[in-house]
Amino acid sequence: QKPVPSDIEISRSCVPKPIDRLAKEVGLLSDEVELYGKTKAKVQLSIIKRLQAQPDGKYVVVTGITPTPLGEGKSTTTIGLVQALGAHMKLNVFANVRQPSQGPTFGIKGGAAGGGYSQVIPMEEFNLHLTGDIHAITASNNLVAAAIDARMFHEATQSDKALYNRLVPLSGGQRKFSPVQINRLKKLGIDKTDPTTLTEDEISRFARLDIDPSSVTWQRVLDTNDRFLRKITIGQSPTEKGYTREAQFDITVASEIMAVLALTSSLEDMRERLAKMVVATSRGGQPITTEDLGVCGALTVLMKDAIKPNLMQTLEGTPVFVHAGPFANIAHGNSSILADKIALKLVGPEGFVVTEAGFGADIGMEKFFNIKCRYSGLRPHVVVLVATVRALKMHGGGPTVTAGMPLPKEYIEENLELLEKGCSNMKKQIENANHFGVPVVVAVNAFKTDTDAELDLVCSIARGAGAFDAVRCNHWAEGGAGALALGQAVQKASKTPSSFKFLYDLELPITEKIRIIAQKIYGADDIELLPEAQHKVELYTKQGFGKLPICMAKTHLSLSHEADKKGVPTGFVVPIRDIRASVGAGFLFPLVGTMPTIPGLPTRPCFYDIDLDPETEQINGLF
Ligand code: ADP
Repeated sequence: QKPVPSDIEISRSCVPKPIDRLAKEVGLLSDEVELYGKTKAKVQLSIIKRLQAQPDGKYVVVTGITPTPLGEGKSTTTIGLVQALGAHMKLNVFANVRQPSQGPTFGIKGGAAGGGYSQVIPMEEFNLHLTGDIHAITASNNLVAAAIDARMFHEATQSDKALYNRLVPLSGGQRKFSPVQINRLKKLGIDKTDPTTLTEDEISRFARLDIDPSSVTWQRVLDTNDRFLRKITIGQSPTEKGYTREAQFDITVASEIMAVLALTSSLEDMRERLAKMVVATSRGGQPITTEDLGVCGALTVLMKDAIKPNLMQTLEGTPVFVHAGPFANIAHGNSSILADKIALKLVGPEGFVVTEAGFGADIGMEKFFNIKCRYSGLRPHVVVLVATVRALKMHGGGPTVTAGMPLPKEYIEENLELLEKGCSNMKKQIENANHFGVPVVVAVNAFKTDTDAELDLVCSIARGAGAFDAVRCNHWAEGGAGALALGQAVQKASKTPSSFKFLYDLELPITEKIRIIAQKIYGADDIELLPEAQHKVELYTKQGFGKLPICMAKTHLSLSHEADKKGVPTGFVVPIRDIRASVGAGFLFPLVGTMPTIPGLPTRPCFYDIDLDPETEQINGLF
């Protein structure tokens, strides 16, 4: 076998077809496409209306066993599978993937465009600014943050009357409420539209949001791994008159606005979700929203282009939508509903849309079903569960690995005993997918050191554990041709009648929903609500947010809450430290332990190798 060149060498060796040609091939009209150079384009949402009557294609979600530092290859398999279905089986296809965060590209992770002969190209465009969606989210998020602190400052330093006169200024000798202000009056139960008729009490209720500074949950964001912004003190300049406050930065993809982008179904719906985001609580216990701050219209303006999915292509010229990339722990870790809806129409009833859910099946897939599918109304036909021999060996008790050091021999020599033990994790994740009534095809992503006996063992255990089928695939080394068996198995599985069901009913109390996820998916004995979480259950139930779906913020490295417990841990109780609400995006997120919301840079970050060749304008050092 010829050695496989590096990801960037392969990516660069392939000349992408002009994106307008690809757009035409997939059935887009020229006025539905906005070109961003030669390799990227945005697609207008008007297409949904044009293709309304077209039946949807088959919907496939790619997930994985519990991740290990050895990597499982979910993105690589997503791309390999569409290349097999599209370029080799000649079916209409789309791969729908998340836009990677730029922070980790310069930090520790490198890119996320797949790998080997199964990649999205050009990978430089994919991994860097793309079409600016993440920058739009940064701008929107930070406008809200600025609005909160400025508002608290103005309220602290002005009388009710002065605030009111500034909030409802004289224009042509008259005061007039803006539409968001009329909404705020309605929310306060003040049924008036003439600013001159408000009583003193009404003026003060209207003018003061009365935000409790200790209740602000909205953070500033940026798309850089800047660990020194994890905790900061803001307002230190004398111009802020001593109104300092402890605050923090998160990475942009952790912003609720990213989750809104991923879960929205139209421009109107996005406007509504952006208005409903709760940023703090008033001293009187009322939730304060972006609409109360008057900023939701401006957010919609900033996000108007980001809402359009980005068209790119695979190495074998099949189409890809790259759209939204919410964090997979404090958010739901799935690409956008809009991209899926458009792609399902474009491929037609015999075609396939393959999307990827972040982390293992206990996290990304569970959220894909219980959050994303609940909001989209779309019903998946097949789950593809990616497993690798080496990662399963680690679940079976294989040694830990250290970056930059050679792999221990357990991972490069045949060891059926370790492998069989580790297959327990795969079996549990198959069971997890089966809870939802969707057929599971296990894709064993082959590495060159895996032996036939090892690959066969994984496939036979998977079939015995309730998978519809299990196949080995070699798309990393061979492209779509190496995933033909996977493509055929997926096509066959998609024809079985679906009996999709959600794991829990939204009407159940918050605690019960969390318990069902912990017991059925993680295999926990029970959950334990710590005092802060208990307080939030009461607060959110009172504020009317109790019916939202649950988005667990748990480590992805174990089925349990402890990252070092591999395989299938048993006999544990999941502690729920706190619960937060993303009311605009539409979920509650219980925090299991502490969740880092902005990564740091390692001693030797990836940026050491990244540079531009001024002669050719070629970017070097991405991987
Ligand atoms: P995930 O989506 O599960 O995080 P990726 O698909 O991004 O994983 O793959 C992680 C890394 O592993 C990539 O650099 C990719 O090139 C590499 N990789 C994936 N599959 C294989 C394989 N079969 N052989 C060798 N390297 C692989």
